[in-house]
Amino acid sequence: MKVRYGLLIDYEYCTGCHTCEVACKQEHNFPVGRWGIKVNEIILENFNNRVSIDYLPFPTDLCNLCSHRIQDGMLPSCVKHCQAGCMKFGPVGELAMEMEKKGKMVLYTPK
Ligand code: SF4
Ligand code: SF4
Repeated sequence: MKVRYGLLIDYEYCTGCHTCEVACKQEHNFPVGRWGIKVNEIILENFNNRVSIDYLPFPTDLCNLCSHRIQDGMLPSCVKHCQAGCMKFGPVGELAMEMEKKGKMVLYTPK
C-alpha cells in the first residue's frame, strides 16, 4: 500500500503569525488571492468568562505538500519557517500516533 504523507498542525501553540502563509506563497509564487495555506482566526466571546482566540492554519486544495522540496530532501516551506515549530510533515500513520499524545491538533492530507 502506498504511504500517504500529510501535515500535522498543533494549533494550541500556533501564534497566528502568518509566516506559514507567506512562506508558502513565496515558495509557489501564488498570485494575490491564492493561498496554499490560510490561518483562520476563531474567536469565542464569553467562554468561561473570557474571550478565547484560536488560530487554525489549514492547507487549501493548492497544497501539494511541497513535492519538489520533498524530492530534494527538504521540509515543506511552511514547516521549515513556522515560528512556533508547531507543524510537522511525515507519513500519516506516524502523524496520527503523534495525535494520540495531546489535543488541539489537526492532520491534513491532500486528495
Ligand atoms: S506543504 Fe508546501 S504547499 Fe502545502 S501549505 Fe505548506 S508550503 Fe504550502
Ligand atoms: S507559522 Fe506556525 S505559528 Fe505562525 S501562523 Fe503558521 S502555524 Fe501558526
